[in-house]
Amino acid sequence: MQLVLATANPDKVGEIEAIFAEVGVPGLELLARPRSVPDVEETGATLLANARLKALALSRATGLGALADDTGLEVDALGGKPGVHSARFAGIGATYAQNVEKLLADLISVGALSRGARSARFTTVAFALLPDGTELHTVGMVEGTLAMEPAGEGGFGYDSVFVPDEADGRTFAEMTSQEKHAISHRGRAMRALARLLGSP
Ligand code: IMP
Repeated sequence: MQLVLATANPDKVGEIEAIFAEVGVPGLELLARPRSVPDVEETGATLLANARLKALALSRATGLGALADDTGLEVDALGGKPGVHSARFAGIGATYAQNVEKLLADLISVGALSRGARSARFTTVAFALLPDGTELHTVGMVEGTLAMEPAGEGGFGYDSVFVPDEADGRTFAEMTSQEKHAISHRGRAMRALARLLGSP
């Protein structure tokens, strides 16, 4: 079975391919998104709606099954923001660094200065639309806190400020990608989806 990846983000493609290789789904081939397919507008109100929109658009454009995911960072002190708007928190076209800068500034402006006041979680919905039209999805989550300033060079997005509860105090950006996948939102959602796809 062939599934085309809905994401063209090389950071995410690398992570997804590594996770699927690790689980091993017999007979499954993941294909890169063709350059000719334009970006899909993420107009859904939820992560699930956006993941489904992306999978449907890629499937329609290619005639193949598709695999999509959507991720949000939910910060308690900011009432759950940026959530489904994580990619464009500092505005449309914002860079990762601009989003992180706004997040840290917003936390200071609401007085969230102690570790206990800076709790957050990443959630990923992974979605597969199979060639026969079957729709499957899984959810992965990781709890953590937001650092006062960025640390580490690895990962992408908000990784430099996210300190997962289950590790040793390092941010995701200070971990190897294997250490990150083992406990990350996307690792969990994709492993669960790979297991679903691999089960008879
Ligand atoms: P997307 O909709 O799945 O592309 O994710 C939305 C935004 O969340 C991205 O632009 C990143 O800023 C952020 N994000 C997604 N996954 C991760 C991750 O694994 N670590 C840090 N930030 C992430």
